[in-house]
Amino acid sequence: MPDTENRINIQSTDHQKLLSNTRKLRELAGLLSSQGISLFEYFPDEDLMLIYDGDLQIRRKLTNYLARLGEHTGVSTEDRPALIDLMHGKSSAPVHVRMLDANGRLSYCILTLSPYPEAGSVNQSLIGTITDITLEHEREEILNEKAQRDSLTMLYNHSYGKQKINDYLRHKDPYTSCGLLVVDIDYFKTVNDVYGHLFGDVVLTELASLLARLCNRTDVIMRAGGDEFVILLENISHPALVSKSIEIIRKIRELRFRENDSQITCSIGVCFLPENTPGYTYNQLFANADWALYRAKEHGRNRYEFCDSLNRYEESSTHEELIGHSDIDVRYLQSDLLTTVLEIFEKMSSFDEALRQVMEIIGTRFDLDRITVVHTDTGNRTADRNYQWRAEGAPEALSTESGFEKKIFLPFSTAMTGTAPPCFSGMTWICIRRRPPHC
Ligand code: GH3
Ligand code: MG
Repeated sequence: MPDTENRINIQSTDHQKLLSNTRKLRELAGLLSSQGISLFEYFPDEDLMLIYDGDLQIRRKLTNYLARLGEHTGVSTEDRPALIDLMHGKSSAPVHVRMLDANGRLSYCILTLSPYPEAGSVNQSLIGTITDITLEHEREEILNEKAQRDSLTMLYNHSYGKQKINDYLRHKDPYTSCGLLVVDIDYFKTVNDVYGHLFGDVVLTELASLLARLCNRTDVIMRAGGDEFVILLENISHPALVSKSIEIIRKIRELRFRENDSQITCSIGVCFLPENTPGYTYNQLFANADWALYRAKEHGRNRYEFCDSLNRYEESSTHEELIGHSDIDVRYLQSDLLTTVLEIFEKMSSFDEALRQVMEIIGTRFDLDRITVVHTDTGNRTADRNYQWRAEGAPEALSTESGFEKKIFLPFSTAMTGTAPPCFSGMTWICIRRRPPHC
C-alpha cells in the first residue's frame, strides 16, 4: 500500500514537472516568437518540416520540404545547397537564406539546427530556429546606401563613385570605349554671394537631378565636392560623347530657377578612353578631364573641352605628393602664375587663406623651402612675422609670431639677404629660403 501511494506520488510529481516543462517551453517559444524567432522541427526520413508558432502550435506543415524547396518557401536558388547540407546534417553552421514570399516580398532569415535524439523513437527529428533578419538587413542596407551618397544631392559621394569607376575600369570589356566628364558650375561662388548659400544648395540639387536624367542607369554620377560633378559614361563612342557634352552644356544653360528666375552655366572637361586602352585608373582619367576643365574655364566657360592626350595626368603626377596632403588645385601648379594668383584672390573670401595658398603654390613651383613675410617697425624696434609657408621638414623661422626685437630679427634678415635691412620704419619683407641642395 505505501508502495502504491509512493508510486502515485512520484507519477503525479513527474506529471506536474512535465506540465510545468511544457508551460516553460511555451513561454520560451512565445518569447522567441516575439523576437522574430520561430521554432521548427524537421523529420529527415519523411522530408517533413513543421514550423511552430509562439504557442508551440503547428503554423505550417511542409511535406516534401527539401524536394519542393523552391515551391514551398521561395528559398533563393543560390542559398538552397547550404540549406540542404544543413538539413542533411552535413554542416552545423547557421545558414543565411533569402526567401521570396507569394507577394514577391524578399525576406532574409538565419536557420540553425540541432539533432534531437528521442529515446525509442524510430523517426529521428531535428529541431531548429528560423530568425527573420529582414528588418536588420534593410537597416544595414540603408546605412550602406547613406555611406555611399552625398547627403545634399543624393548622388554617389566621391569615395564611393571613385571606387565604382575603378571597379568598372578594372573589369571593362576592352572592346568598348567610355568617357569621363568633370562638370563644374561657372562662378558658383557668385551665385552663393548674390542669392545666398541656401539657394546655392537648390542649384546643386537641381543640377544633380538634371545630370541623373541626362545619363543612363549604368552611368556613374557623383558629386566630387563643392560644385564639381563627375560622370562616367559607359560604352560610348567619341561622337556620342561629343553630343552628350553639348547636350549637358545646353540643358544646364536652359535650367531656370523659379526662386529668382536665374540661370547658370557649367564648364566641362572630358577625357575619352578609347577601346583597347587598358590599365587606366580613375585618378588618371580624372586628372586628364580636370586638365581639360581648366582649359574650358580659361577659354571663357560655358563650354566643354576634351583632353588632348591620355597621358596629360603625368604632368600633374610630379606634384602628386603635394596634392596628396594639400587642398591645392593641380591647375594652379601648371598655369600662368599671375593669372593663378589673381584667380585665387578673386575667388577666396579670406585674404589670409588666399595668401597661404599663393605662398604654397609659389613655394612648390619654385621648389622653395620656406617663405616668410615679416613686417619690421624700426621706430618701435620690432619685427613681426605675419605669414610663413614651409615645405615639409623645413625649419621654422622666427617661431614667435610677433614682437621680435630688432636685434633678433637682424641676424635672420642678414642671413637671408646677405645685407642688413635698410632702416626704414614700417617695411614688409618677403624672405625666401631656397631648398638646400641635399633635399
Ligand atoms: P569657376 O567658374 O572658376 O568654377 O568659379 P566658382 O566661383 O564656381 O569657383 P569654385 O568652383 O572654386 O567655387 C566653388 C564654390 O562652391 C565655393 C564654395 O563656396 C561653394 N560650395 C562648396 N560646397 C557648397 C555647398 O554644399 N553648398 C553651397 N551652396 N555652396 C558650396
Ligand atoms: Mg565652379
